[in-house]
Amino acid sequence: MLDKLRAVTGDAGVLTGTDVAALAIVRPRSTQEVSAVLALCKDARQPVVTQGGRTGLVRGCEAGQGELALSTERLNRIEEVDAVGRTVTVQAGVVLQMLQEAVQKEGLYYGVDFGARGSATVGGSIATNAGGNRVIRYGMTRASVLGLEAVLADGTVISSMNAMLKNNTGYDLKQLFIGSEGTLGVVTRAVLRLHELPSSQCTAMVACDDFESVQRLLKHMGRRLAGDLAAFEVMWQDYFHLATTLPARGRSPFDREPALCVLVECDGSAGESDAAHFADALEAAMTAGWVADAAIAQSVEHRDAFWRIRDSVEALHSFSPAFHFDVSLPIVEMDAYVSHLQAEVRRRWVGGRCWVFGHIGDGNLHVSVAPASHEAGIQRIVEEIVYEPLKRCRGAVSAEHGIGMAKRPWLSVTRTTEEIDLMRRLKQSLDPLALLNPGRVVGVTADATN
Ligand SMILES: Cc1cc2nc3c(=O)[nH]c(=O)nc-3n(C[C@H](O)[C@H](O)[C@H](O)COP(=O)(O)OP(=O)(O)OC[C@H]3O[C@@H](n4cnc5c(N)ncnc54)[C@H](O)[C@@H]3O)c2cc1C
Repeated sequence: MLDKLRAVTGDAGVLTGTDVAALAIVRPRSTQEVSAVLALCKDARQPVVTQGGRTGLVRGCEAGQGELALSTERLNRIEEVDAVGRTVTVQAGVVLQMLQEAVQKEGLYYGVDFGARGSATVGGSIATNAGGNRVIRYGMTRASVLGLEAVLADGTVISSMNAMLKNNTGYDLKQLFIGSEGTLGVVTRAVLRLHELPSSQCTAMVACDDFESVQRLLKHMGRRLAGDLAAFEVMWQDYFHLATTLPARGRSPFDREPALCVLVECDGSAGESDAAHFADALEAAMTAGWVADAAIAQSVEHRDAFWRIRDSVEALHSFSPAFHFDVSLPIVEMDAYVSHLQAEVRRRWVGGRCWVFGHIGDGNLHVSVAPASHEAGIQRIVEEIVYEPLKRCRGAVSAEHGIGMAKRPWLSVTRTTEEIDLMRRLKQSLDPLALLNPGRVVGVTADATN
């Protein structure tokens, strides 16, 4: 098998050895090579796990013994930027930050951005339908994918490299591969939608006394800034405290620690007058009584310092055990959900901690729980506390990180039996031998008739 793979990709395309947890890592350079690799795997009934930047948070790309890892690291070409059509054509292994920087040179902007930009790939972000910091303005990755090319489990190439905003010719096949976490095909190339580079960026840290004020501020800023509101990130007090207190590097811009802190940002196209408009909108919110205090970034360094507070997730990693979640629920349900969660953690465990922050404009909360307990089955108990209330409020156990292997036991909390059954049927029809990312998202066994 390894010799056959080397014949396809060249010697440098196959890595083996003690550093490699999987059977081997195969690194194709083109769609055709991916196709040839998957055809070989089909003949050998060899399970394959696709790996992009390996920044995924649900163990989807972890390849075990007996699995072949297919890395997209050599599929790393930016093929074409179309400045008029505002599109870019890339191979799937291109790193997000490389893409952002390349299109910026052409005065264009790619709307998907998140903390792992330095390693995460375009293919991985498509496979997980990644969200991030600018979803409120530009949507999830799905909204930025115009076309793509993918290889099915039997090596068939589905080239759907549409570059137009409008194309209603039959089923929109690219959607099968967006967010299905590599279980239906390997994405090899994509055509992505771009926007004009904003000419101004205004950022503020805002202190609010209660969640009602946060909701009013969101509506108000959305209306006043029209389509320019690009981020609305909320930190509950416990998280804000952690992120602005030593050993964290962030420092609060406020005299008094707020009950809730909002990082609000707008991407404008009217240059300097955007700053005045942004300040006016915040002042009106203050006059209305929804804002207790506010600090507007006066420089790029200020802005970066504000975002560092929001992105201080490493502060959470000093607690053990600690469990991290990425849930979705309607904004109007959030306050009650968070209060219930915090009270439940305190009630069950003396010294238990719970931190919450998130992209609330998108209905997405990141929750971390450190139960200060090593009792047996602790992870399951914490997961139950976080996930079970989502049933009632029509939420989701994963807002943006996906299901992978880590969240599979919880898929049915927020998806119906019929939905999961249809997912299985899709998987079985596209990958009857269950060779692509087996055991991720939905568990499907090989169809014995194939
Ligand atoms: C610090 C940090 C911050 C993060 N912030 C966010 C955030 O704000 N929003 C968010 O959504 N996620 C976030 N993530 C999660 C992660 O970065 C995303 O899920 C990202 O899209 C994964 O891309 P990757 O290239 O690393 O994919 P991997 O981790 O390599 O793979 C992820 C999944 O996609 C599959 N896959 C990868 N490439 C392909 C391909 N070409 N074809 C088919 N399947 C493929 C893999 O098999 C696996 O199931 C964050 C992660 C970290 C570490």
